[in-house]
Amino acid sequence: MWWWTLSWKKIKVFLVAAAMLALLAGRIYAGAEPDISTLSYGIAGQVIVVDPGHGGIDSGAVGRQSKVPEKEITLAISQKLARALSQAGAMVVMTRETDTDLSGDMQGSLIQKKRRDLSQRVAKAQEVDADLYLSIHTNADPSPRWYGAQTFYYTNSPQSRILANCIQEELVRILGNNKRKAKEGVFYIMEKTTMPTVIIEVGFISNPREEQLLMDDLYQTRIAYAIMSGLVKYSAKEGQP
Ligand SMILES: [Zn+2]
Repeated sequence: MWWWTLSWKKIKVFLVAAAMLALLAGRIYAGAEPDISTLSYGIAGQVIVVDPGHGGIDSGAVGRQSKVPEKEITLAISQKLARALSQAGAMVVMTRETDTDLSGDMQGSLIQKKRRDLSQRVAKAQEVDADLYLSIHTNADPSPRWYGAQTFYYTNSPQSRILANCIQEELVRILGNNKRKAKEGVFYIMEKTTMPTVIIEVGFISNPREEQLLMDDLYQTRIAYAIMSGLVKYSAKEGQP
């Protein structure tokens, strides 16, 4: 009898979120950008870090056919996500807004610079006391056959698991091309941040079909709205992010 254990406030939040998600899905399938104002409930006022994976010296994985680097795709999707979240009233902090890394003038090996880059990203999130941290990446595998977006959460963070599940469910529902589940993992930024943090691998750049999709403007928009829809779902479940 889970219903009776919920407060009226939570039920209301849940119903509003369900209505918004239905509306969002309808508009995305129709190919139109959803009306952002309908999604602002639960997101407004939250401090959300959007972290486009890689950048600058670090290209990330590279598309097999197009040779497009991961860092370009993660930035394009992050910008779309940041714009949508801002319009919904969130305070968005991006770890980078151009093709740069955060290692600064530091001398050293690529690995040392990469470590410095990641620690600076974490520092940004801690500095603004963010409510949530979303890191955007593309996946890659030596075999071209694997595809599908997948969200990762930190093993030791129940909140990040709930957040990852919400985002993953919406990626599966809105993109409609895979049935992957959110998965636990141990990554540097997840260990070092204190807020719920997830890594969203938006698809496999090593799969020829998905590589094409990941470069497509409308598909990138659908990914951004799926992630945002996941946040709405999360805020409905948790009362607030
Ligand atoms: Zn990556």
